Amino acid sequence: MSVKYVYDFAEGNKDLKDLLGGKGANLAEMTNLGLPVPPGFIISTEACRQYLTTGDEPAELAAQIDQHLAALEEKMGRRLGDPVDPLLVSVRSGSKFSMPGMMETVLNVGLNDESVHGLAKQAGGNERFAWDSYRRLVQMFGKTVCDVPGSAFEHALDEAKKAKGVRQDVDLGAEDMSAVVDTFKKIFSEHTGREFPQDPREQLDLAVRAVFNSWNADRAVLYRRQERIPADLGTAVNIVAMVFGNLGPDSGTGVAFTRDPGTGEQGVYGDYLSNAQGEDVVAGIRNTVPLDELEQLDKNSFDELMRIMRVLEDHYRDLCDIEFTIERGKLWMLQTRVGKRTAAAAFIIASQLVDEGTIDLDEALQRVSGAQLAQLMFPTFDLSANPEELAKGVAASPGAAVGKVVFDSHRAAERAAQGDKVILVRRETNPDDLPGMIASQGILTSRGGKTSHAAVVARGMGKTCVCGADRIEVDGHNGQFSVDGHAVREGDVVSIDGTSGKVYLGEVPVQPSKVVRYFETGELGEDPLVAAVHRLLAHADSKRRLGVWANADTPEDAARARRFGAEGIGLCRTEHMFLGERRELVEALILADGDEARQAALDALLPLQRKDFEGILSAMSGLPVVVRLIDPPLHEFLPSLEELAVKVAVAEARGEDPGRDVKLLGAVRRMHESNPMLGLRGVRLGLAVPGLFAMQIRAIAEAAAAVRAAGGDPRPEIMVPLVGAVQELETVRAEAERIEGVAGIPIGTMIEVPRAAMTAGQIAGAAEFFSFGTNDLTQMGWGFSRDDVEGSFFSRYLELGIFGVSPFESLDTEGVGRLVRIAVEEGRAARPNLKIGVCGEHGGDPDSVHFFHEVGLDYVSCSPFRVPVSRLEAGRAADNR
Ligand code: PEP
Ligand code: MG
Repeated sequence: MSVKYVYDFAEGNKDLKDLLGGKGANLAEMTNLGLPVPPGFIISTEACRQYLTTGDEPAELAAQIDQHLAALEEKMGRRLGDPVDPLLVSVRSGSKFSMPGMMETVLNVGLNDESVHGLAKQAGGNERFAWDSYRRLVQMFGKTVCDVPGSAFEHALDEAKKAKGVRQDVDLGAEDMSAVVDTFKKIFSEHTGREFPQDPREQLDLAVRAVFNSWNADRAVLYRRQERIPADLGTAVNIVAMVFGNLGPDSGTGVAFTRDPGTGEQGVYGDYLSNAQGEDVVAGIRNTVPLDELEQLDKNSFDELMRIMRVLEDHYRDLCDIEFTIERGKLWMLQTRVGKRTAAAAFIIASQLVDEGTIDLDEALQRVSGAQLAQLMFPTFDLSANPEELAKGVAASPGAAVGKVVFDSHRAAERAAQGDKVILVRRETNPDDLPGMIASQGILTSRGGKTSHAAVVARGMGKTCVCGADRIEVDGHNGQFSVDGHAVREGDVVSIDGTSGKVYLGEVPVQPSKVVRYFETGELGEDPLVAAVHRLLAHADSKRRLGVWANADTPEDAARARRFGAEGIGLCRTEHMFLGERRELVEALILADGDEARQAALDALLPLQRKDFEGILSAMSGLPVVVRLIDPPLHEFLPSLEELAVKVAVAEARGEDPGRDVKLLGAVRRMHESNPMLGLRGVRLGLAVPGLFAMQIRAIAEAAAAVRAAGGDPRPEIMVPLVGAVQELETVRAEAERIEGVAGIPIGTMIEVPRAAMTAGQIAGAAEFFSFGTNDLTQMGWGFSRDDVEGSFFSRYLELGIFGVSPFESLDTEGVGRLVRIAVEEGRAARPNLKIGVCGEHGGDPDSVHFFHEVGLDYVSCSPFRVPVSRLEAGRAADNR
């Protein structure tokens, strides 16, 4: 059976984007709604995919195009390229996802040395228009289909204007344009070795092929990589009868939105350019006027446009954007789609549409995302004073950062150590820049996109980053960068906006996010954005099955998490409690010679730990707090081997007594590990240092008793890290159960070693709960060192498409996710009431939250700032229609 590759507009609809591309599917939809769309047909993405894999158009394609072209000619009463009364068509790309400006379009296909006269006649004797249309065809066709450098045409056009002594294209008359066509045709044959094709059908076929090929143009490949659009979708090709916006003052072209894409407000939003074609708007040849001025210019068309915009909004039940052309007072719709909008507008519009009765709250929830909410939680620049914009790059990692410019990593670290806030500016970054990136407020590069090293690492660190700001020239050697001749030197202050990609000179004031202010205070106020966020989050809460807990180690963080809606603490890391002035106590523990000395050190730590836990349990009174016993290797609490060795050597060389440093050095040497992440940490440490876990457990039990005595409702849970075998957990449990006050406190384990996932059925026998440590599970599942890889080869892996996103950022559901699934199934089979959560970074990642919902976890735990994001996504996951 032969495959259908070509569809008339009347045969498609908006849900066929996979097959017909976004533009084609929506043109079809508008046609079927009875809106004025110029007739046309669509060559499917399937034909493109075939062409791209085999290098040839499918055999049936030519005949199918013949058939649809004949039907189009019939409808229009004109033949393609007819010398007397020609039909002209545009050939436009259109893939499933919009890739603005990335692929190709050829207009006026069907013009040649003869039909140009027919066109002039059609246009009421307007010769100039006909020759101008022809020269546009030769230019676009030459550039797009035959790779003739665009500059050759532009240069020739400039020369023609110069020779005539005029500045604008419109000042060239019919004869001038006819001469330009001759010149363009010469340029064409010089570059291609052949004459400009006069056969209209050959023009059409070559243009279609060029659109197919444009799918793999460098800029399209790059754009897809950045936007995570799959590389194998292919583009559809739309062949549409030409309508002309450049036929005189009663013609024109414009764009419109059914409501403001920045704020969501309803009204007349858009731009109009009279006597012009769409490409003139893009090229900025003349200035557009606001759309409402069209009402004075052409009231009928304006009213018709307003009517159509209402039809489209009612039909799509969402904000639409539109491209239109008016040809001699007749309005034509050239494109529509559900419009892009800012994060704020997404929330406001979704809520407005509920008020208007257009959609219900369930659907509104699907119209917003956790990523948008996260954007709304970053501080922003207050731009009311109109700061000077220096450059614009890729918005690679959101946030608003202000600091003094530095050009190398070392300087960044140095100045930051002196208390300066710095912005690291580099052409591009590499792993050697890591210390400087850590020390900076933000990172600015002149090269690279969203998956460049700078972007990936900055996002991982939650640091503001603008990259690929290609107007700036970085001259690190001379400690400056320049933009259009304006030099910015080391120490000058810049402000970079990782949400818009804009770079400003000087310090722009930063304002906290109003959404965060609302979470902090609980005060709704009058702001429509805050009201919309509140409304949609409340709805998400009512829908979600997953609990949302937070990772917090201090009473302050715990209290904030609670204000942000956390229903428990899923991970209280106890290691910070061993830092600062407590280091000495830890050193004493490590250096302890015998049981007695060790016990003394532990006894000194106990009251400090108890106090820590009391704070957190009080802040979370009435809610669960999962306290994780100490995890990192003890040597992390000791001085570095190199520093200590130098100190001892210097003391000895001076004939001084290095004292206890010698003993300390011995201990550091003994404990040194090549792969500390895989070494003596977690439960291994707890079992190797007698009394360490017992001290922590006792502190938890005593803290709970104290909080209860003070009238609180403490709900601690004890979590054992890095368990790989049930015997480890059984040993810790036996020790814990001997401690007074532990009875009734649930004891569970992290599942973060692959072996634990694979033996989850056994481990569940000794665990009342599981919490997936997906950071370690990713590290050990892939064999990637989490401390090293993100700054080393990950950017290359992203470039190569080995993964679309770092597996430390978004869970690798196929691999690591499989371990999670196995552990959930086998754990629950062994212990049906086993409570299961996740406390790795992935608990705050939108896609991963959907996965955790689907595999049936009870809760996700994430950093306090991600709590609202996870609440929203858990609600969306529960209502995934
Ligand atoms: C984890 O491994 O996912 C985890 C939460 O523990 P940590 O990050 O402290 O190793
Ligand atoms: Mg871990």
